[in-house]
Amino acid sequence: MIVALAGGVGGARLANGLAGVLQPGELLVAVNVGDDFEHLGLTICPDIDTVTYTLAGLNDRERGWGVKEESWAFMDTLRKLGGPDWFALGDRDLAKHVLRTDRLRRGDTLTAITQDIARACGIVQTIVPVSDDPVRSIVETDEGALPFQDYFVRRRCEPVFRGIRYEGAETARPAPALLAALDDPALEAIVICPSNPVLSIGPLLAVPGIADALRRRRAPCIAVSPFIGGEAVKGPAAKIMRELGIAPGAAALAKPYAGIVDAILCDYDDPGAGTTMDGIRLIAADTLMRDDIGQRRLARVALALAAMLRKPA
Ligand code: GDP
Ligand code: CA
Repeated sequence: MIVALAGGVGGARLANGLAGVLQPGELLVAVNVGDDFEHLGLTICPDIDTVTYTLAGLNDRERGWGVKEESWAFMDTLRKLGGPDWFALGDRDLAKHVLRTDRLRRGDTLTAITQDIARACGIVQTIVPVSDDPVRSIVETDEGALPFQDYFVRRRCEPVFRGIRYEGAETARPAPALLAALDDPALEAIVICPSNPVLSIGPLLAVPGIADALRRRRAPCIAVSPFIGGEAVKGPAAKIMRELGIAPGAAALAKPYAGIVDAILCDYDDPGAGTTMDGIRLIAADTLMRDDIGQRRLARVALALAAMLRKPA
């Protein structure tokens, strides 16, 4: 049994690699909910949807997000009617948002809804939100506090990043399936995917009980760095680091992940490769996942590293 902690795109890529090398049912992917928001009366969970579409092989590779073979009649009409068009909702995608919102209103948990959708998409691994309770990231910028999607989509991460709050995190409870997996004696490894450490992994670790469960882990925990050549492969991770006065690289992960990871896999060209920071070893590998083969290759490297670090029972 393996637990992966994931945000959206970077998280989904490695989670898909892990799913590809493990047996059905051996992987539990716990996904960030800090990006979730309410829009046009719908509860939208972008990271859960990215992970679900990717593991189902339904993700649109060209666009880089959303579901493939998407159509946009809803958005076209919404625009004509004068509705908000800054957040794209494809027709196929919309069915899932409507179904999820309806079930949440009827009192179903996000865990149950996420698992039912995953199963309906043919996914044989477990995907859970890190919490069934709402956690909403609020980004502090030079233009003031912005709800996450206002910062990320509407303002395209242009405002200068000053900090982040995870609203609701203090009272959020970890998803029971995640806590059970983290405390399961059969757990073999925990993998923190190469997701944005501030926007994706931060809100996940802010849910009380998650970081504590990682600190008392018996299984090794490996993080994979999202930085290659001092840049993010995609998204604002490097820009945010620079705006915080931190050099983008694996070493930047040592502080936020101190006490919860045993080793960080970073790219060969990372300046920290081969060093030990805050007691965490930075181990070099080829961490770019170009395609499915690259995803599975990196997944095998992460699992092999975890196996090497496993303590005898
Ligand atoms: P988001 O929620 O969609 O923004 O996605 P995540 O937070 O899960 O992932 C974003 C991070 O994934 C970025 O910082 C990228 O650098 C990283 N990423 C994407 N593809 C790769 C890859 O092939 N290799 C590595 N190491 N990182 C990647
Ligand atoms: Ca995200």
